[in-house]
Amino acid sequence: MSARAGNIVQPGLDVARIRADFPILHQAVNSHPLAYLDNAASSQRPLQVIDAVAEYYRSDHANVHRGVHALSQRATDAFEGARSKLRAFVNAASDKEIIWTRGTTEAINLVAQAWARPRLGPGDEILVSRMEHHANIVPWQMVCEQTGATLVVAPIDEKGEIRLDEFERLLGPATRLVAVGHVSNALGTINPVREMTAMAKAAGAAVLLDGAQAVPHMRVDVRELGCDFYAFSSHKMCGPTGIGVLYGREAILAEMPPWQGGGDMILAVSFEGTIYNDLPWKFEAGTPNIAGAVGFGAAVDYLEDIGMDAIAAREAQLLEHATRVLSEVPGLRIIGTAEHKAAVVSFVLEGIHPHDIGTIVDAEGIAVRTGHHCAMPVMEFFGVPATARASYSFYNTEEETERLAAALNKAQEMFA
Ligand code: PLP
Repeated sequence: MSARAGNIVQPGLDVARIRADFPILHQAVNSHPLAYLDNAASSQRPLQVIDAVAEYYRSDHANVHRGVHALSQRATDAFEGARSKLRAFVNAASDKEIIWTRGTTEAINLVAQAWARPRLGPGDEILVSRMEHHANIVPWQMVCEQTGATLVVAPIDEKGEIRLDEFERLLGPATRLVAVGHVSNALGTINPVREMTAMAKAAGAAVLLDGAQAVPHMRVDVRELGCDFYAFSSHKMCGPTGIGVLYGREAILAEMPPWQGGGDMILAVSFEGTIYNDLPWKFEAGTPNIAGAVGFGAAVDYLEDIGMDAIAAREAQLLEHATRVLSEVPGLRIIGTAEHKAAVVSFVLEGIHPHDIGTIVDAEGIAVRTGHHCAMPVMEFFGVPATARASYSFYNTEEETERLAAALNKAQEMFA
């Protein structure tokens, strides 16, 4: 691939045409064309999603499930239709297994409070890994405080890979739940979650996978993975903010009590007692994010039109190029060098604090994230307070990485 290849045409993936769908990408920031390399934090939305949300509000909005009038029926059809799209997207067995949440964080908290809290007690263990996002650590710490259970942490190695031998050794009769990330947001590591799920199942544990960084970038099949729960967020995959999905196996969801109480999660209420609604609505108290679901459905249509395999292949090219080009910057050290990685390059630059890197490259119109990426235990493991992170989506270009490398070289000169 030519080093100057900007908006190159790949077989099956026309990046220039795709970029035309994203109005936000076509703007100047600090007098430079925007290079948006902060996709792991949140991706951008194509017109197809923006228009679907606008059209919903323009023509169809009413509250769902409760009205016989035309608009309420249309809104309900759009809302439940989006659920079916998400079910198909991750290959769940039934729409009952797709619970709308505010995002990955809320999905994990739901499992913590409605599955773990009623079941766990002293002597029970929850196994996580050292590379988890805080969203897959803190809810379990809270449950441990509430129940007396213990949080056990599987170690990682210098490349940022899970030490599978240690992971397997830590599994035992006390392990009630394994909660691990499919892809690390801080390092980009793609964990062998199918294998890990099989090991956990063999030990008799339930399995939750945090898929926030996986579903936007690769084909995910929850049944093939064999997990009990899988959590992900719309805003990282071209959809609206404030909505995400908890996938749960129907049998396990059916055994769980509701988490939040209120309208929509009930069939009948009296002061003698309340009958809860069926799945999936049992876990969806109150008016849901209807427009968010509609937009999420449109995002999934958009990703499917491009094709998840084509997206994964394009992002693998971007990662290979970025790793090579950024490694040539003097004093740059990549944090997270796992063999299987998503298109995330976390790095530190000798002599320059990551926050300064963020400010310097922003002056050139380049958006990268700097900080601990909500993964402080990972930073501690690598002995750094923070990193700068370039994270890619299929609409990014090689030229954007070259601009980042040039800006980093300039920063080196400034701080020399
Ligand atoms: N898990 C991982 C791996 C993430 O990267 C993130 C967000 O960055 C989350 C969980 C939390 O997602 P949300 O903030 O959408 O709930």
